[in-house]
Amino acid sequence: MIEIEELYKYYGGRRAVGPLSARIEKGEIVGLLGLNGAGKTTTLRVLACDLLPTSGTVRVGGYDVVERPHEVRGKVGYLPDRPPLYDDMTVEEYLAYAARLKRVGKNDVARRVAEVEEMTELGKVKNQLVGTLSHGYRQRLGIAQAIVHRPELVVLDEPIGGLDPLQIVEMRGLVRGLRGEHTVIVSSHILHEISETCDRIFVIQNGEILWSGREADLSSQVEQGMRIRVTVRVAGSDGAGALARATALAGAVPGVSSVEPRDAAESGEGIASIEVLAASDVRDALCRALVAGDAGVLEVSRLRDLETTFRALLEEGAPS
Ligand code: ATP
Repeated sequence: MIEIEELYKYYGGRRAVGPLSARIEKGEIVGLLGLNGAGKTTTLRVLACDLLPTSGTVRVGGYDVVERPHEVRGKVGYLPDRPPLYDDMTVEEYLAYAARLKRVGKNDVARRVAEVEEMTELGKVKNQLVGTLSHGYRQRLGIAQAIVHRPELVVLDEPIGGLDPLQIVEMRGLVRGLRGEHTVIVSSHILHEISETCDRIFVIQNGEILWSGREADLSSQVEQGMRIRVTVRVAGSDGAGALARATALAGAVPGVSSVEPRDAAESGEGIASIEVLAASDVRDALCRALVAGDAGVLEVSRLRDLETTFRALLEEGAPS
């Protein structure tokens, strides 16, 4: 569906992207992950024919973005980081306008607008002026205009930027709902957001792909071990005593490389929490050792601190 070969984009003498090569298959939901300035927006703008590459080849659905931009635009729906919405139009007027602009057949405009309004749950604000929408609804409208012409590829630049936690959950659902009918590329600087919605992740740094793969592979390759949070209760002990007992018992389990105290996950007599770093999954042995040492196990959880993983990747480079 998308073939990028040796893409470079310079702004003046400054390289923003390149060399960058990637293939994305039809139907994939792919995340572009990188810190500010990594080159995400630039890459997405090239894919959306909003910006010409300096060199290299980019094909969408078999069409070259430089030689056949008209065809590519017909295949791509684009939500820029700041969507150009017209505040004086109603939601419905704006969507109909976007549909006509994207060459949806005259007889299909009303039906298609109604369909995307339903998909993005914009129906209840369809007569409201765009300028009066909340940020969450503006983002929905941005997605609605991006998909109104049934593009094969949907490109979403930071769709969750500025949304509140509830709106983020809704937006994730909306992006996942695009699966099946569309290939989707979504950018973010938050690994957690990308990993929730995407099949595959491209980590971008300084305009180049530092790593690509599934999130599970990223965590296992970078972290090389497991971090486990445990909360125990030691009868007849205070918090400090419980912490000392848990630390000693956990530290003696084969494979455990460090044990750190953590704020107790709940209040109560003799309750303490620790964080264990181990070379492998030692949860069973850990629980047995704690219970055998009269430390009741209230809670055990594997920590998946994705942001730590992402930072480790950016600082240490790609795993071999
Ligand atoms: P952000 O999350 O901050 O949007 P990004 O990963 O999307 O970052 P880009 O916006 O693609 O990164 O920017 C990549 C580099 O290119 C940055 O150093 C940026 O300052 C520079 N850049 C982006 N747009 C322009 C432009 N129009 N003119 C000059 N430099 C630009």
